[in-house]
Amino acid sequence: ADVQRSLLSMKNINMTFGGVRALRDVSFEVRPGEVHCLAGENGSGKSTLIKVITGVYRPQAGAAIEYDGQKYTHMSPVTAQASGIQVIWQDLALFPEMSVAENIAFQTVLGHRPRRVNHTAMRETAERVLARLGVMLDVDLPLREYAVAQRQIVAIARALVGEAKVVFMDEPTASLTQSETDHLLEIVRNLSASGVAVVFVSHRLAEVLEISDRITVLRDGRLVGVYPAEGMTQSRITELMTGKFFDHAVRAQ
Ligand code: ADP
Ligand code: MG
Repeated sequence: ADVQRSLLSMKNINMTFGGVRALRDVSFEVRPGEVHCLAGENGSGKSTLIKVITGVYRPQAGAAIEYDGQKYTHMSPVTAQASGIQVIWQDLALFPEMSVAENIAFQTVLGHRPRRVNHTAMRETAERVLARLGVMLDVDLPLREYAVAQRQIVAIARALVGEAKVVFMDEPTASLTQSETDHLLEIVRNLSASGVAVVFVSHRLAEVLEISDRITVLRDGRLVGVYPAEGMTQSRITELMTGKFFDHAVRAQ
């Protein structure tokens, strides 16, 4: 039963931008070490949900977060990060002119004495997390020497330095080739196997089915439901995402 334990849950999330209700009474739950996909058409509220959960946006009153056994009404991005909720943003938020090691470990190694960066410690930290991901990169090279797929891995490595318990990835495969995607999915599996939960957004349903344990479907800012990936099909997810049901006996919750 402990397998069903929740690591992070957020209930009654409402978020409005001007007149647009981006999220209506959405609930979302992540279990330790699971791969959880967020599916939904463009504009269904996936990125907004990630931003609310990771503290970028403050939800309207009434929301309740529970994380690692503690209750919150809102978490700042700093609190979220410090307590192990990490995000890989679509633009990756990396520094091309800095080395791989600096991108991964600069903040961590900087510590309390910003004037004295310990380059050896930084390199070691970077190499340790990359090894954990099963990836070899020259950590002394400037990041700009690497392609998008590797930069993505650097962003994941940086998240891991921060003792991640859950990593959110918003469309990480959008600009990757098939083989790069396969590699990233393998990394996601390794993360999950090492106990880190991954919340994954993708438009490619084959990928979603391949990688996830559970799938949360959003439509027009509303929660359609949460489904085990096992037994799910691409056409069923499409039905849930679009609301166009071929089998009228099946109803969204
Ligand atoms: P998704 O990631 O599923 O494509 P989003 O969460 O980005 O969807 O957007 C959900 C809805 O909220 C859309 O209608 C979008 O236009 C709107 N929206 C998202 N962010 C903003 C914002 N910062 N300002 C105004 N509207 C926004
Ligand atoms: Mg989005």
